Amino acid sequence: MPIRILQAGICETDLQILRGYMGFVGIPGHEFVGIAEAGRYAGQRVVGEINCSCGRCTTCRAGRRTHCPDRTVLGILGRDGAFAERIVLPEVNLHRIPETVSTEAAVFVEPLAAACRIVEQVHVRRGDRVVVLGDGRLGLISALVLAREGADVRLVGKHESKLARAAGLGVSGVLAADVRPDHRADLVVDCTGSPSGLAAALEWVRPLGTVVLKTTVAAGHSLSLAPVVIDEVRVLGSRCGPFPAAIALLSERAIDVEALVDARFPLADGVAAFARAQTAGTFKVLLKIAD
Ligand SMILES: [Zn+2]
Ligand SMILES: [Zn+2]
Repeated sequence: MPIRILQAGICETDLQILRGYMGFVGIPGHEFVGIAEAGRYAGQRVVGEINCSCGRCTTCRAGRRTHCPDRTVLGILGRDGAFAERIVLPEVNLHRIPETVSTEAAVFVEPLAAACRIVEQVHVRRGDRVVVLGDGRLGLISALVLAREGADVRLVGKHESKLARAAGLGVSGVLAADVRPDHRADLVVDCTGSPSGLAAALEWVRPLGTVVLKTTVAAGHSLSLAPVVIDEVRVLGSRCGPFPAAIALLSERAIDVEALVDARFPLADGVAAFARAQTAGTFKVLLKIAD
């Protein structure tokens, strides 16, 4: 289905792609809101799931479409992305945005869905000790989603300004330099975007606890996994999540994502937008492509 893009968000993955992650060549961009130009959503605002699967292979038929070995991924793998006036996605990937959700908020559906994936994978109980490593965009959104489950969430970051903004949104945070990992967290979520995140997570998690890895980096890891075996830690990779859950959170105004927007650029100033997204203390930069 052709979609006319209204707005798109720059995310950490886009910045990693600039550094060679996935070896992607093409138009980046996978967080967007647009107007469907044909099909059942014609004329309506939509967001789109980014994995385009074949629908025929054993993985797809088993219901694991986001892992289709023949998939393309919008702006990440074999498919041009949303930093453009138009894109094409299969209709099955699209979700209508309700009137109650602003276009700017809807840009956050994709990253919010990625955060919702954590609570889809891990049963988080009220009072669970959760440590989120990384005070960037995904770290903060993940902390907000986990806090809604009643968990006792602590954000561990490296930037005083970002932690102050997180506090303003109700997330308690602490500078990594000011705390010692204590092997007491039931769940640790690595959103550091750094190869050192996993090692740090293993220092926070309790024996038999869970580490969720959200970091995707172009660089490789080198660390001893012996603590994973000795402490019988469950390490879970976590990628894309449920769009309907994210749209529901935005519709309920459960999470104030608009407070995370720092700057808006027209598409023609995309290079400046990327530069801004890489400056310290920036949460979200949007490209405003059409009205
Ligand atoms: Zn993203
Ligand atoms: Zn398939």
